[in-house]
Amino acid sequence: MLDLQELLDRLVLENRFWCHQGKTAAYIPELSKQDPALLGISACDIHGRIWNAGDWQKPFTIQSISKVVSFICVLQDNSFDALTSKISVAPSSDGFNSIVNLETKNEHRPLNPMINSGAIAAISLVRGATLEEKFQRIFSMIKIMAHNDDLLVNQAVYLSEKRTGDRNRALAYFMKSTGGIDVEVDELLDVYFRLCSVEAACPDIARMAAVLACDGKSPWTGASLFAIKTARIVKAVMTTCGMYDGSGEFAVDVGMPGKSGVGGGIMAVSPRRLGIAVLGPALDQKGNSLAGWKMLQRLSGELDLQIF
Ligand code: GLU
Repeated sequence: MLDLQELLDRLVLENRFWCHQGKTAAYIPELSKQDPALLGISACDIHGRIWNAGDWQKPFTIQSISKVVSFICVLQDNSFDALTSKISVAPSSDGFNSIVNLETKNEHRPLNPMINSGAIAAISLVRGATLEEKFQRIFSMIKIMAHNDDLLVNQAVYLSEKRTGDRNRALAYFMKSTGGIDVEVDELLDVYFRLCSVEAACPDIARMAAVLACDGKSPWTGASLFAIKTARIVKAVMTTCGMYDGSGEFAVDVGMPGKSGVGGGIMAVSPRRLGIAVLGPALDQKGNSLAGWKMLQRLSGELDLQIF
């Protein structure tokens, strides 16, 4: 029988080469300081058992992986039809922070909730009388899914994003001008930047993915954290949009619902089998962890995790 621990150790060893082929995110100054040589992986099964290898203990900011949880919350708080009148679930062939589609396509609606414009709009639609309440709702769901109450926002990364986040401001002001969002832009972005700056390690993200692998049930208590239908929609949108404009290639190479973040993390879900997380801060041109992607491709092949 295949030994999962042995396999994960081997994947880290065999894929370190790829860490030197990519670059850390430079557009957020604090992220450019990350060590590109880091490489870690965790896998959590549907009973909550976990296996780790490499730099799995190293904390990193979850960045766009937070968009998965914002999407879960917004689906819980709105009907799907009401939601898609504001945000579509269509793949994008442009970069994760592209503004062009907002003006030219889709009646000014963001194409999907996995890119910046869609996630910013999604946060505004999460239940909460104030933006702080919306933040707390999403942040608590992150902590519940990660089965870790000690997660915190990395202040240095948050301030770095806030200082340099003019592209996101442009996206938000554009959406405000077209009626896509109706809350105060600065406060909304503050929530968005804080969610991107939540710091976690591979096991936290693997546990979050395991909840999706269990269709919204907690592997630890069996409690339903969100509806099965929500889990299904989220996994479908992760599959088609989760790796930005690299989603098609990821579906071919890895064949699992995935979501990457520019902090170097990727969350992947093997339905009813495993939640998986990788860390590799050296990114490819589209903003996805290069070595992380390669490890997932190998893992998927070795364990036959392709869903297609
Ligand atoms: N905080 C990042 C940004 O807004 C998130 C991007 C990402 O991880 O894809 O640009």
